[in-house]
Amino acid sequence: MNENYNILKSKIAEAEIILVGIGEEFEYTEVLASDDKYQRICNQLAAHQLEALLPYVNHYFLKQNVKYQNALSKLANFLDGKNAFVVSTCMNGMLEESGMPLDKMVTPCGNILKLQCQEGCQDALFDVPKEYTDLLIKCIEQEDGWQELKEHKCGVCGHEMVFNTLYAKHYLETGYLPMWSKYTTWLQGTVNKKLCVLELGVGLKYPSVIRWPFEKTAFYNNKAFFLRVHEKLSQLTPEISEKGLSIAVNAVEFLADI
Ligand SMILES: [Zn+2]
Repeated sequence: MNENYNILKSKIAEAEIILVGIGEEFEYTEVLASDDKYQRICNQLAAHQLEALLPYVNHYFLKQNVKYQNALSKLANFLDGKNAFVVSTCMNGMLEESGMPLDKMVTPCGNILKLQCQEGCQDALFDVPKEYTDLLIKCIEQEDGWQELKEHKCGVCGHEMVFNTLYAKHYLETGYLPMWSKYTTWLQGTVNKKLCVLELGVGLKYPSVIRWPFEKTAFYNNKAFFLRVHEKLSQLTPEISEKGLSIAVNAVEFLADI
């Protein structure tokens, strides 16, 4: 892996500006695939139709996962002091705890940092009360009691409160739109700059958020370098293949191993 490390290090060092995309491999990730307790809990959530809690469950397990933590801290170190912007489709809140600057990060699919009414009856987001996360942790630890979480109701319409993510029945975009506008302004400033695009673990679940626009950005920038890391979908389009490198490895494993 030393060769990849050297390439990444030199491309980041010589770049004036770095655009980072973090995708699906950082949300569920293979590192949890062999965790029996995690798998049982996912099955319980599906049975109770509580998949909206999944990002928090991922957070709980990933926080204890050395490999995942290692991958994130390597990325944070690489980007430290650089002019970088991170776009992530992850909802698990892990990136927000990685130490990377929050004012250069946008999560268009939402995250577990705020709650909303599942019906979106008012355009408002709320802090997550400690009783709610305490109960959630208890459910995870005891593998039971999930229905109690549904008792946390909206004070206005009486429907359930859920995390502000795409899983909400009426997802409120209030949480990310101001940062998205900051991102698009930042992106305009990348033209003619020496740009390094790092696309890490981004599959085809939400291609219009990262994958397609990143390809376009790299295509129109004559000084761009594009690194795509994904276990199954690492292939580069012909338009950018000459300025890019594709690595067919799970992006969490890739970062953890370098
Ligand atoms: Zn409501």
